[in-house]
Amino acid sequence: MYRVVIDEKLCIGSSNCMEEAPDAYEVDDRGIAVLVRPPASDEALLNGARACPVDAIVLFEPDGRRVHP
Ligand code: SF4
Repeated sequence: MYRVVIDEKLCIGSSNCMEEAPDAYEVDDRGIAVLVRPPASDEALLNGARACPVDAIVLFEPDGRRVHP
């Protein structure tokens, strides 16, 4: 499973990630994206991350290699 870092300073609460991958991301009552736990799959994590207009979702392989963006 990818390691996920959501940059709360970058997130603008657009909900694209949640709309694209509701089984991986949701927007909390602060208007910031958070992970659904447990996220459904790496595919869902990546699909949601790719939908973010400001690249606020950063994904890493378990070995630390950056996957996205
Ligand atoms: S798509 Fe990006 S900016 Fe929009 S809520 Fe998700 S993480 Fe935040």
